[in-house]
Amino acid sequence: MDIIHLLPDSVANQIAAGEVIQRPASCIKELVENSLDAGATTIQVLVREAGRTLVQVIDDGKGMSETDVRMAFERHATSKISNAADLFALTTMGFRGEALAAICAVAQVDVTTRRAEDEVGSFLEINGSEVIRQEICQAPVGTNIRVKNLFFNTPARRKYLKPNRTELRNILIEFYRIVLVNPQVAFTLVSDDEVLLDLPVGTHKQRIEQVFGKSQRNQFTAGLVEMRTDTDIVSIRGFVGKPEYASKSPQQYFFVNNRFMRHPYFQKAVLTAYQGMLPPEHNPSYFIYFDIAPESIDVNIHPTKTEIKFADEQTIWQILQAAVRESLGKFHVAPSIDFDTPLTELDLPQTTIDPSRLKQPSMVFNPNYNPFEQQTTSSSSFANLPSAPRKQQVTGWEKLYDEPELKEELTLPEDVHPLQIAGRYIAVAVPDGLMLVDQHRAHMTVLFAEIEQQMQSGHAVQQQLLFPETLELSADDMLLMRQLQDQLLDLGFELEQLSSRAYAVNSVPALLGNEAPQRCLNDILAAVRETGISAKKEWNRQIALTMARDTAVAYGKTLLEQDMSDLLKRLLALPVYTKTPDGKTVMTILSETELEKRFTL
Ligand code: ADP
Ligand code: MG
Repeated sequence: MDIIHLLPDSVANQIAAGEVIQRPASCIKELVENSLDAGATTIQVLVREAGRTLVQVIDDGKGMSETDVRMAFERHATSKISNAADLFALTTMGFRGEALAAICAVAQVDVTTRRAEDEVGSFLEINGSEVIRQEICQAPVGTNIRVKNLFFNTPARRKYLKPNRTELRNILIEFYRIVLVNPQVAFTLVSDDEVLLDLPVGTHKQRIEQVFGKSQRNQFTAGLVEMRTDTDIVSIRGFVGKPEYASKSPQQYFFVNNRFMRHPYFQKAVLTAYQGMLPPEHNPSYFIYFDIAPESIDVNIHPTKTEIKFADEQTIWQILQAAVRESLGKFHVAPSIDFDTPLTELDLPQTTIDPSRLKQPSMVFNPNYNPFEQQTTSSSSFANLPSAPRKQQVTGWEKLYDEPELKEELTLPEDVHPLQIAGRYIAVAVPDGLMLVDQHRAHMTVLFAEIEQQMQSGHAVQQQLLFPETLELSADDMLLMRQLQDQLLDLGFELEQLSSRAYAVNSVPALLGNEAPQRCLNDILAAVRETGISAKKEWNRQIALTMARDTAVAYGKTLLEQDMSDLLKRLLALPVYTKTPDGKTVMTILSETELEKRFTL
């Protein structure tokens, strides 16, 4: 007996769905891309329970005819290409004709659609690839598609979904990738009746600000520099972050021909342009848009179409690197240009780079420039190192003597006379030699211990702000902030939600002094994000670490003798003081023997 047979469509579609539709976010991506391909100018996305029970996309695009809407859900059904040659001249987001077939195989779908030329619209209901009914109906021009109970018939897939807040974050990430490159389209994203994003039509720069918050003092969007280059091979335009806004969790986006792409090789080109300008572990944010002849790229490597192959990758690498360098160079030479003025967007004088000259970029550029190296200031108005207000004063010169961490027994004279070296180290004579202490790390270690204690006791000293500060956040950071709010309150940050995109900061920990709270709060969000959203237990530690790091005295700050001896006393009173809480060396002792060695000749 022969045993091979063709699989029924419904099963084949379910298998194919595994590749295209992994989670609600991929469903949204496919539906919104269809709306864009249909020429929509307004796209609304509604989700319930992070897309588990409902994903709805409403557009004002060209709609479908009664026959087309049925065809649309067949496998390999597309209006976008008709032969293999078209694959090399793609101008649409979709072309594989498999998204709708995949979605209807694993969900309950209904769609209402009407074309401008039709009197009536068409309603179609499909349940796991099976058409339930189709009828004519009244409808506005455009398409309104609802995907209910995703993976209702594939329990294994459903189980594989993450908690709602994670899926919602995935949706936002996917959404950003689309909206950032389509500022000519208005978008809204509503989750369980709450408007997460409401994005009117604007410029590319405005869209970036709508998504990530606008020009706050410490927000990376305030530090974006425009870049643009046009060559025969490729046009590249976009915005790159000034080095001093680099962070541990930067926003990095590449788009090619209006499509988001990952490209580790080009990412390297951008980072190379920043060489010598970034503090360790910090990376710049960037939004870079490539325009290239469709035939010189291959989008069809993977169903999700985020891996893209370029015909001429090495040359583009060079062009990209030179263009980023030039923008950064321009910014150093002429820092007064106001890049925020919307008029300048993508409108600066163009630079045309001749690819044959790329090997010798001729711009003025100081490779040693490092905005993080602060100048040593000689004026010292620094009266007292900020200290977390404490319940009980830490007393503990005595502790010093039974400190197990140091091998040699360390004794300090009652009246120490510390010296500051290079705006960075505190030197003090101890009986065994010369003790050197890193001022920033020492202060951070002291503050960390005090902050942790405050968080445990829940009695932080708060400072009411006369004029509340506004903290604008991206939608995903809004979600995260909501989860952190209680912990931050324990610490002294009193936050009040102003809108779907902003908090008012009413009070701050007294420790923060006159510093703007935005930087610290943004750093806390970044630290928590990095730790992992599920590692809730670690959050307090990350918050305390960030707070301590942000408020500890900076390098380059001149310290008075009194400040230094006070800091040393507080440091040595801690149970562990030779390392920072994140394991960096706080102090070292140059022993007498080591000193002697230096004087042997
Ligand atoms: P693809 O986008 O790769 O062509 P899809 O399965 O996503 O494949 O969609 C199939 C077809 O259905 C599209 O080619 C298009 O003609 C039609 N279609 C899908 N969504 C819409 C929409 N929102 N508005 C108009 N037409 C649509
Ligand atoms: Mg599609």
